[in-house]
Amino acid sequence: MDWVNGLSINARLKIKSSDKGIKGGSPLIHSEAVSYVDAGLAEGTIIDVVDEKGKFIGKGYYGKQNKGLGWILTRNADEKINASFFERKIKAALENRQSFFEDPSTTAFRVFNGEGDGIGGLTMDYFDGFYVINWYSEGIYQFKEEVLQSLEKLTDYKGVYEKKRFAEKGSYIDDDDFVAGERAQFPLIVQENGIHFATYLNESAMVGVFLDQREVRKAIRDKYASGKKVLNTFSYTGAFSVAAALGGAEKTTSVDLANRSRSKTQEQFSVNGLDYEAHDIIVEDVFHYFKYAVRKKLSFGLVILDPPSFARSKKHTFSAGKDYPALLEQAIEITEKNGVIVASSNCSTFDMKKFKGFIEKAFRQTGGNYKILEEHTLPEDFKTIKEFREGDYLKVVILKKLS
Ligand code: SAH
Repeated sequence: MDWVNGLSINARLKIKSSDKGIKGGSPLIHSEAVSYVDAGLAEGTIIDVVDEKGKFIGKGYYGKQNKGLGWILTRNADEKINASFFERKIKAALENRQSFFEDPSTTAFRVFNGEGDGIGGLTMDYFDGFYVINWYSEGIYQFKEEVLQSLEKLTDYKGVYEKKRFAEKGSYIDDDDFVAGERAQFPLIVQENGIHFATYLNESAMVGVFLDQREVRKAIRDKYASGKKVLNTFSYTGAFSVAAALGGAEKTTSVDLANRSRSKTQEQFSVNGLDYEAHDIIVEDVFHYFKYAVRKKLSFGLVILDPPSFARSKKHTFSAGKDYPALLEQAIEITEKNGVIVASSNCSTFDMKKFKGFIEKAFRQTGGNYKILEEHTLPEDFKTIKEFREGDYLKVVILKKLS
């Protein structure tokens, strides 16, 4: 029993009476909403979240993650947070992805999406029989045994890898992420709507492909690439370029600052039977490339913009919340009339409405007109809940430059 004679025996954390978020159903225990927390709580401690009068609101775990102090896991005082709780949540999440498991042309997808599946701070991705667990706090990492046991019981996994994303300042330190089962042979080739991707589950937090862009890659391949000159900026392993090439692009140009991006992009082309030498892969600062492209009067029929939320290069600091409109202006300048721009951001500090405002602002500055063709947020396997809108961080607008 966590409650004896109506009194909680768990550690307690009090929420300010002024707070609306948690009372409105948000599972994130934001540090600014907290008026009191028992001193010296260990990461992973089960806590009762109560209001100023001590009335029960919910039960969760203590785990520092950015500005959060933990996550509420249930609003039912009688529900126990134990092995069976984790198993129930993971089982429901796996069942929810049944159609993905049954689709032979897609063998990589998200199977557990944090608070969207009932446990904030924990995500899991599936890569052709292998599972990658992301732990976002030391607190949730305390439940490793429960999560692994559930996976063992509920799946026939080949192997399990993990990413401890709570390491120093969000940077990633482990050199071996292997946890259970058998080790995969790398590259592990997965499929997504028939597109092949080489993945490396044991290299860093970034395994080779960002699964949340699946529908955008499909749209590019099926609707927007045919016969186009394509510019893919912040291209990483060139996943968008590969989708465009498979969709019949005349040529793709991938630009990324990181040295590794050249060989990684060549590999993604090769595993799809494409000749990477027929495409340009440029290791350079995107801002520098834009200047070069303007000077050389280059223009493209499809321009893809997918910058990180925040990036610092030798000459530039880019912060999406501040600098996206200016970035877009440069992209507009080198897009052909009637050309298409795929504008994407994964920055969680602004929403779709504000993002569309950035687009409006950029076109106002350049004096052009545009039409929105389609919009994307997170795909179905990245399950989100309406009580935690910030969880739906992805914003993609596909637009046509009219003039
Ligand atoms: N669009 C990619 C993901 C982008 S991840 C995809 O779909 O897979 C962000 C990438 O931006 C990283 O690979 C990083 O190296 C690159 N990057 C960050 N700042 C940059 C800059 N100023 N110029 C070029 N690339 C940059």
